[in-house]
Amino acid sequence: MVGVLFGPPGSGKGTQAELIAPILGVPHISTGELLRAESEAMTPLGAEVAPLLAAGELVPDELIERVLEQRLRAPDAAQGALLDGYPRTVAQARALDDLLAETGRRLEFVLRLDVDDKTLIDRLLRRAHEQHRSDDNPESIAERLAEYHQLTEPVIGYYRGEGVPVLEIDGNGTVEQVHAEIIRALQKVRQD
Ligand code: AMP
Repeated sequence: MVGVLFGPPGSGKGTQAELIAPILGVPHISTGELLRAESEAMTPLGAEVAPLLAAGELVPDELIERVLEQRLRAPDAAQGALLDGYPRTVAQARALDDLLAETGRRLEFVLRLDVDDKTLIDRLLRRAHEQHRSDDNPESIAERLAEYHQLTEPVIGYYRGEGVPVLEIDGNGTVEQVHAEIIRALQKVRQD
């Protein structure tokens, strides 16, 4: 089982992935978390990506594809994974398809969290006070939303073309409401 939680920054991907991954029995893999851990540990990779993270810019496709590939090869991901924050470009989506095909797997679903831009900005500014992430400031937030609309949203069209089920979820509600809607959507797609 490999699934993707898709949505703009602040749409609740991380929160919902934490709730759903244990139900699906697979690890929650957040590429943003992997990069932040590298950056905090001050590894060479971390030093390379830290300025990009702080500015809210995407890291290069080849770099993140390598990070994801390594994480997916870990033993706990043998049964699958719930991806959060990957893919963010069509090139990354193609790389994921190739990676899964190597082990005879394919993507089962894409859960797309849809949230209004105004709600996203409010949530990200609130998180800035709570978590002190280097990229939760007004300039980086604007950059991340622009990157999302320009580079990441086209990934949905790519998956529709490939026949991967895209489950549309209204992400504007409370954590509990969104979680319940995701569960309903997953039950439906798994029955079909
Ligand atoms: P996130 O925690 O998913 O919001 O990611 C935080 C930051 O990590 C992003 O703003 C990017 O700088 C970087 N990042 C995470 N995932 C990717 C990805 N798939 N492609 C490019 N950059 C990424």
